[in-house]
Amino acid sequence: MCDDSLSVSLPPVPESPPASAEAGFHRFHIGRMTITALCDGHFPLYAQDILRSGESPLDKLLMEARLGNVVPSHVNAFLIEDGQHRILIDTGAGELQDATLGRLGASLISAGHQPADVDILLVTHLHADHIGGLTRHGEAVFPRAVVYVPHEEAAFWLEASDRDIVDPSVRATFDHAHRMLAPYVADGRCRWFGSETSWYGCLTPEWLPGHTRGHTGYRLQTGERDIVFCGDLFHVAAVQLAEPEVTVCYDSEPMQAKATRQAFLAEACRRGDIVGAAHAPFPGLGHIHKSARGYVWHPVG
Ligand SMILES: [Zn+2]
Repeated sequence: MCDDSLSVSLPPVPESPPASAEAGFHRFHIGRMTITALCDGHFPLYAQDILRSGESPLDKLLMEARLGNVVPSHVNAFLIEDGQHRILIDTGAGELQDATLGRLGASLISAGHQPADVDILLVTHLHADHIGGLTRHGEAVFPRAVVYVPHEEAAFWLEASDRDIVDPSVRATFDHAHRMLAPYVADGRCRWFGSETSWYGCLTPEWLPGHTRGHTGYRLQTGERDIVFCGDLFHVAAVQLAEPEVTVCYDSEPMQAKATRQAFLAEACRRGDIVGAAHAPFPGLGHIHKSARGYVWHPVG
């Protein structure tokens, strides 16, 4: 049973101005951490093309979520500051996708930071909208950062020869991954990591397979409520939380993606974690609450 009263008892303190994608960033403090949500931009998600609802009629799910076929979606990244280090989770799409994306660098600067300020960079997975901001014209955008890539993810996208198991829309990822990581690899600033890794004693990876084979979230212990950055665990919160069985065409392993989402949502709800999601409405931060059928997203920040 999820304790909703617990979930709202320790809200993070938002700074003014209130969160808006136009500002490009939204910063708040929790415990000994400062979290800045960074907007990379927005894109239209065509629900009928992207969502896979199995037995449940998608029309009905969209109607219940008060959504039409075109769902406005965001791409979010997150900067963590612990007072000594700056850690960036994901880098947006850079120039690899829609022209409405690729704003991460500008958002970072609007928030008062430079790419050179970033000490380490963690990627949730190697899809274009998460790694496209790493490299521009063959040069590393982040001149000091060490880039950490989940080992399973690197093994799949950098070494796998079987491209047929992924949706055609993400097949270019095999090339993008090589290209975006190349300057960091050449510079000795790219690391593959496994489940035993942690950073600065407060940040640990959580393997969330299904969307991609090595899809990984990151749990941050703040001294108050934990924040879990969950990458692409869901793309349309209003549908996939209410009905966690709904997958997306980009999922490499849909059955695994469903099971991972179910387990993650139950645990995040039980613990009262704050969740940072790459494609939830900006700033992409919320709590997971139980609803009559599944779960519901309660934005915070
Ligand atoms: Zn994504």
